[in-house]
This record gives sequence, structure tokens and C-alpha cells, in this order.
Amino acid sequence: MSAIEISIDRIQTEDDWMRDGACKGLTHLFFPTAAERPQARERREAAAKEVCAGCSVQMHCVEFARVHHEYGFWGGESEDERHAAGFRLIAPIGIRARAS
Ligand code: SF4
Repeated sequence: MSAIEISIDRIQTEDDWMRDGACKGLTHLFFPTAAERPQARERREAAAKEVCAGCSVQMHCVEFARVHHEYGFWGGESEDERHAAGFRLIAPIGIRARAS
């Protein structure tokens, strides 16, 4: 045993739940590409919603996204759905696109 023992404990944070997300490696389903068309967005978000439906941390995720006004698809909820639920974004993509 060495004279000096170093113990490094990982600091627990409020977003540790993210490690258990079912969306690892699926970023392309949760965030739009540049100039994504509305039909492609619907298909992408439907696929993301299916992933979220089977995710063990969905409740943490939806709350986090609402509180932090996140962009993208989180916790089974789109930007539009968060916006409609009263968790406003400055410029949600879908609402902005429909307004123009
Ligand atoms: S609820 Fe959806 S977005 Fe959130 S961690 Fe799970 S799979 Fe990812």
C-alpha cells in the first residue's frame, strides 16, 4: 500500500439520471438537422417519442427540459409541447416556422 492513498469520488449532480437515458447514440432523433422540413420533423419526433416511452428516466428528463427551457425533444415532449405547457422557449422551431 502506498504512503498516500488518493480517493476520488465522483461528485453526484442533479443530472446523473442522464447516464441512464435510452437515447444514447440517437442524437439524430432528438435534435433537428439544419433546414429540417416539417414532415421530416414529424417522423423524427415520432421515432424519438417511441424511444422515450421505454425510458426509465423519462420523468426526470421532462422536468429537466421544462425547467431549463431546453431545445430539442426531451422526455417524450417536443419543443412545441413544452411551449404549449407553459414552459416557454424564446423561439421554438415549429411555432416560428408556422408563424412565417
Ligand atoms: S426520456 Fe427520452 S430524451 Fe429523456 S433520457 Fe429518456 S430517451 Fe432520452
